[in-house]
Amino acid sequence: MTDRNQALFERAKALIPGGVNSPVRAFKAVGGTPRFIERAEGAYFWDANGQRYIDYINSWGPMILGHGHPAVLEAVQKAAIEGFSFGAPTEREIELAEAIVAAVPSIDMVRLVSSGTEAGMSTIRLARGATGRKTIIKFEGCYHGHADALLVKAGSGLATFGNPTSAGVPPEVVQHTLVLEYNNVEQLEAAFAQHGKDVACLIIEPIAGNMNFVRASVPFMKRCRELCTEHGALLAFDEVMTGFRVGLGSAQGVYAKLIPGFEPDMTVMGKVIGGGMPLAAFGAKREVMEQLAPLGPVYQAGTLSGNPVATACGLTTLREIQKPGFFEELTRKTRSLVDGLTAAANEAGIPFSADCEGGMFGFFLMPELPQNYAKVMTTDNARFNTLFHGLLDRGVYIAPALYEAGFVSGAHTDDDIAATVAAAKDVFKKLA
Ligand SMILES: *Cc1c(COP(=O)(O)O)cnc(C)c1O
Repeated sequence: MTDRNQALFERAKALIPGGVNSPVRAFKAVGGTPRFIERAEGAYFWDANGQRYIDYINSWGPMILGHGHPAVLEAVQKAAIEGFSFGAPTEREIELAEAIVAAVPSIDMVRLVSSGTEAGMSTIRLARGATGRKTIIKFEGCYHGHADALLVKAGSGLATFGNPTSAGVPPEVVQHTLVLEYNNVEQLEAAFAQHGKDVACLIIEPIAGNMNFVRASVPFMKRCRELCTEHGALLAFDEVMTGFRVGLGSAQGVYAKLIPGFEPDMTVMGKVIGGGMPLAAFGAKREVMEQLAPLGPVYQAGTLSGNPVATACGLTTLREIQKPGFFEELTRKTRSLVDGLTAAANEAGIPFSADCEGGMFGFFLMPELPQNYAKVMTTDNARFNTLFHGLLDRGVYIAPALYEAGFVSGAHTDDDIAATVAAAKDVFKKLA
């Protein structure tokens, strides 16, 4: 049989850098040929060879209902017939804004954009504009899109300003971005003690999904909140991944249950709120959002922002996941996957730890859950790659890199979970 994935990859590489339009799709971390996907349905997709996979990347999060949910398909088809894009406002933008504001109490107003990167970049600009300050605090291992000021890693030493992680980003552009270790209260306190009066915002993935799955500890999150308040800085939650994915109240809803009265000041959303279409948003309290153009001095715009087909897709997705029982069932299935994998690993004597919240999960080939990026990156790459390819060969598609989270959708059945655990058992035996 000819390998159509390989043939397509060769064709793609001649025209598209690395053959892909987003780097992690290229399988560079795990080796081998990326699968070119032809179609998807429910919890599955099929590659160019006709091979079926149980899909645990959910397009990196958005497909929380699974692929081709009938209500979403109907809404998207209807919207497409009504018009692709107008460059003028529509009622559906209001409805989507209402749905977001109703579910997330910290948000009074939102602005819709087309990607998480745009939303993160605009959040930083708005925070700087609203506070009149320059400094941003971010954490090693958190990803907030690829805006220049956020492509930065820690410099050497405690609480230093960062270095660019990409060529093409001049050091001057990141000279106001302070990069700290996740879950490190001491560093956080030192940074605020030294730079507090200059900090416009602290941006954080509250449950970090771009270093696999690492929760901010409650004491750490509490200190983030206290220090921002004390120094007049804005606390920005990047919930592009966690928003409407870990629960209907998003990650801030999870922390509000653990820390009485807890709220961030700004929220970045994406992924699930678009249901698989290019749609993202950022929101905050009214007085902050009113700093945005056309009301205020902070400029921000977009030709396709609030796109009518994308809002139809996102709005219908949000309505479906708000139906009674949806999240309870999604949480139960995700938990059973994590428990099943853990039991299978234990049985095989493989060091393993795993965690989940709502429909998002992560697992590590180490005995204890890591608390920061440096610890995550001590994972044995070769062992992860064996696990990844073992699962792939058995029709289970997890993220092709050890620093990515996984996702379960409403379309996954108990049988899919059981088949996944059975495949993992098989692979763990080889790894042992
Ligand atoms: C995916 C992601 C982004 C970037 O969103 P894009 O739509 O890919 O630009 C930003 N922040 C977090 C936490 C993400 O997971």
